[in-house]
Amino acid sequence: MREGRSSALQKRHRARIARSKPACHICGEPIDFALRWPDPMCFVVDHIVAIANGGADTLDNKAASHSRCNRAKSDKDYAPIIRRSGALN
Ligand SMILES: [Zn+2]
Repeated sequence: MREGRSSALQKRHRARIARSKPACHICGEPIDFALRWPDPMCFVVDHIVAIANGGADTLDNKAASHSRCNRAKSDKDYAPIIRRSGALN
């Protein structure tokens, strides 16, 4: 899965979240921030309330997660949004 909405803001949010080295908000396990995509345990930004469910694309609605945890969740929540992401920008 690729982030179709990537922007300077997304990068800023990502850096901001990574700064405090939080645990994965989905499984609660620590994240190794040295890991890089496509490692399933690498850091990705997850939307706490999926945008598909009315969540906002703001820092408040974002948290750190493992790529694998995000994927397990996003397969359900994100797929329709990615297809029409242009309409959300
Ligand atoms: Zn996790």
